[in-house]
Amino acid sequence: MSLSAPYDPNNIFARIIRGELPAIKVFEDDEALAFMDIFPQSEGHTLVIPKKIRATNFLDADPAALAILIARVQRVAKGVAKALNPDGIRVAQFNGAPAGQTVFHLHFHIIPIFDGAEVKRHAGEKADMAVLEALAEKIRAAI
Ligand code: AMP
Repeated sequence: MSLSAPYDPNNIFARIIRGELPAIKVFEDDEALAFMDIFPQSEGHTLVIPKKIRATNFLDADPAALAILIARVQRVAKGVAKALNPDGIRVAQFNGAPAGQTVFHLHFHIIPIFDGAEVKRHAGEKADMAVLEALAEKIRAAI
């Protein structure tokens, strides 16, 4: 999928927003939804997606709408930091398949980094849902 690919309203994240697919949610308002990445790179890997912006990637999105979204990204990142006390946090974002993007609805990754813990490969191993639910409960409470 190239950088200029048109937005597909049936992508996985659009279907999660519409409630057609499940997600372990940690935050939701009119603008954004945050949920646990089911193939996490680290413990607490969370995704933040816009609900109103129909953009395939960062380059497609209206700057004013991005400003609203990035405030949610920061809010969720602070919640992850408070809940899990990581040593660092990566906020990441991929555009186009050659850059590593696998879901073509704009999103931000919040990846907590713990000293000495492995950061797993991108979109790799599926997590245990009970473990994700327990992490989500802590993050939800901290947001
Ligand atoms: P990207 O590769 O940057 O497009 O990010 C997509 C992310 O979505 C990857 O980190 C995947 O692990 C994650 N992912 C894919 N399907 C799901 C799903 N159904 N629920 C939660 N996360 C997902």
